[in-house]
Amino acid sequence: NADMAMHKSKTLGRSTYHFYDSEMGNRLTRNVLIESRLRLAMQSNQLELYFQPKVDLLTLDCIGLEALLRWEDEELGQVSPAEFIPIAENTGLILPLGEWVIEQACIHMVEWREKGELIPPIAINCSAAQLRRDDFLERLTSYIDKYGVDTQSIELEVTESILIEDAERCAELLHEVSKLGMKISLDDFGTGYSSLSYLKDLPFDCLKIDQVFIRDILENEKHAALTLGIIQMSHSFGLKVVAEGITNQAQLDLLRKYGCNFGQGYLFGKAYHSDHVVSNI
Ligand code: C2E
Ligand code: MG
Ligand code: MG
Ligand code: MG
Repeated sequence: NADMAMHKSKTLGRSTYHFYDSEMGNRLTRNVLIESRLRLAMQSNQLELYFQPKVDLLTLDCIGLEALLRWEDEELGQVSPAEFIPIAENTGLILPLGEWVIEQACIHMVEWREKGELIPPIAINCSAAQLRRDDFLERLTSYIDKYGVDTQSIELEVTESILIEDAERCAELLHEVSKLGMKISLDDFGTGYSSLSYLKDLPFDCLKIDQVFIRDILENEKHAALTLGIIQMSHSFGLKVVAEGITNQAQLDLLRKYGCNFGQGYLFGKAYHSDHVVSNI
């Protein structure tokens, strides 16, 4: 990767692009470091699954938990999944990592069940590369069977990127997942292609409006209008809506007025360690 940066600097002209080069070089170096540390973290069990509540906006009842990866590295400190997931996706590490997440989610569900805790359905984020595997469903159901988990307690969160390549096969897969009783959410809506036409054909139960629209919904009229439009359109298609990243009461009030069903955000709770979920929901 260092060679690549050097090569760029020669072809583009050293003086003009020097700053850009070193920025790019730094990023490449960090990415390579993250990749190797992530491999290590996976081998030595340094990753953890945390759980963030999803609440009903009217009653504030916790109606679900989203499983989110957490990684604290000895050298790098806390690394955000927003940084390491894309690297895992580019290097193929997402396949074993995604499978680990599925198994851990099942293990936690069994642990809660054995303690007699009533836990709402768990949402698992799945990358496009995972869903593209021929044996995705087989592997998923093998964990469900192994741990005796109820399919109704599992939800998959997928993004629009799954539809870019091989949309037909993906549609087929999602229909099978849905037939098995699992719910499917469309994550980060509004940030990608946001083509609306597939919403009516694919078996989504829920659409999650990305936090970039919620963050400034009180000041940004366009984001407010977009949010209201997405909610109304989703409802007309029979989909429920989750607003991501709610941090204050005024946002909650507005989203309630818009008829938004569910929400997630620091106003209700962050992602908690499995030991602290029950006391926080
Ligand atoms: P996401 O699936 O959209 O998850 C929501 C992200 O928003 C989480 O970030 C969550 O901690 C954060 N969040 C929740 N409420 C608030 C809020 O009120 N304010 C702010 N500023 N942020 C809030 P996190 O955990 O850092 O994850 C980032 C992304 O990494 C996730 O976005 C998801 O795309 C990916 N990711 C995390 N865990 C997994 C995983 O197990 N598998 C896959 N494939 N992707 C994952
Ligand atoms: Mg998600
Ligand atoms: Mg999201
Ligand atoms: Mg996101």
